[in-house]
Amino acid sequence: MYTLRPTARPRAGLGLLILLAPCFAVGGCDASSPAPPAVPADSLSIRDIRVRLAADVPRLRFRATGGVHLLDGETGKTLAEIADEEWYEVAAADGGSLTVGEADLGAKLLHIASPAGSAELSLPRDGQWGLPRLYPGRLAVRATPSGGLFVLNLVDLETYVGSVTASEVAPRFADEAYRAQAVAARTYALYAMLEAEASGATHDVSGGEASQVYSGYRDDAPGRRGREAAEATRAIVATWDDNGRQRVFPTYYSAVCGGVSQSGAIFGKASDLPPLRGGVECDYCSIAPTKSYRWDTVTISLPEAQQRLVGRYSEIASICPLMGVEVAETGAGGRPVRIRLLGAGGRTHDLSAENFRLAMDSRGREVKSTMFDLRMKGSTLIFENGRGFGHGLGLCQWGMEGQARAGRHAGEILAYYYPGVRLTRAY
Ligand SMILES: [Zn+2]
Repeated sequence: MYTLRPTARPRAGLGLLILLAPCFAVGGCDASSPAPPAVPADSLSIRDIRVRLAADVPRLRFRATGGVHLLDGETGKTLAEIADEEWYEVAAADGGSLTVGEADLGAKLLHIASPAGSAELSLPRDGQWGLPRLYPGRLAVRATPSGGLFVLNLVDLETYVGSVTASEVAPRFADEAYRAQAVAARTYALYAMLEAEASGATHDVSGGEASQVYSGYRDDAPGRRGREAAEATRAIVATWDDNGRQRVFPTYYSAVCGGVSQSGAIFGKASDLPPLRGGVECDYCSIAPTKSYRWDTVTISLPEAQQRLVGRYSEIASICPLMGVEVAETGAGGRPVRIRLLGAGGRTHDLSAENFRLAMDSRGREVKSTMFDLRMKGSTLIFENGRGFGHGLGLCQWGMEGQARAGRHAGEILAYYYPGVRLTRAY
């Protein structure tokens, strides 16, 4: 089935090399026409970003137009070349080596590369093969302790940024909104790469909403526009001045702030970063689709609320039965940041407003944000005056679109939602 060939050792991986030199202040900068790179593109480089596609799946299958090269990820040795375009299945064998079809390749880290550019990957979901997706760069696979597979996509950062941008904006957003999103996505990714290097993590980001939504190669209009936005803002990140050093930070963003941005306190350690202090007023997001800038009153009975809370946080059972709920603390712009659960015998339990909201409605389809007025009527919780959709921290995406429609450039939009940032060329 395979043709084994002599090894062509792949180019050694370039280390993560970051040059954070301010290139221009945001106020006077037009991110749509960035200055030419200060250094030749190939003299300073950055390693591929490691996107986790699966933490532990029983198997995967792949194929690629033009065939596939299989390499030992540890030695760089080419293990096999597949010329046909059939699906091949990867699984873990005893001892942690990986099998492709019937063949045990003896490698513990398998790289799957397509000379044509992208390989198609399908992962099992609910006992069936999931929808195949095209991934540029390489797929890296290793066995997990439980005998499953851990799957990464090793992909060029700019390619990743283009794809994320396409998935994180509404398709009809304006060009400057795409560009602002591209800079936010790149900054978030770069911050994650630096964090992962410092902690020795196995991956930089995951492919879903916990990080940024990444769908691999997208051959549609948003995919093309995302790539154009990445290209127009290539290597540019948003930074804040930390006593003379330009630093990247986790550029959080969410769909609709609802009027004022959330404080970084909801995510702990980011709370003291100047660009994430929150309280940025924004009515630009009033153009968002109905029921997200302002959403309908939601009622939940106390027994139902108790069931949802205990289902997510078992320790809450110790204060039950739940007698009431109140806002214990508000933050930037008057948004609730801490919720107090009132239990039997005067016992209480505090949790963050964001965790409380997600316990009430994990998908955020009804309780769409933490910006609400909360009151009790009898044994019913009432969420009133709901405003916004998402966590509300950092960049407001529909506000970004509103500002782009009003003629603002990407740099101005980013400086508005992340106060004090400037645009910096990272590499
Ligand atoms: Zn907004």
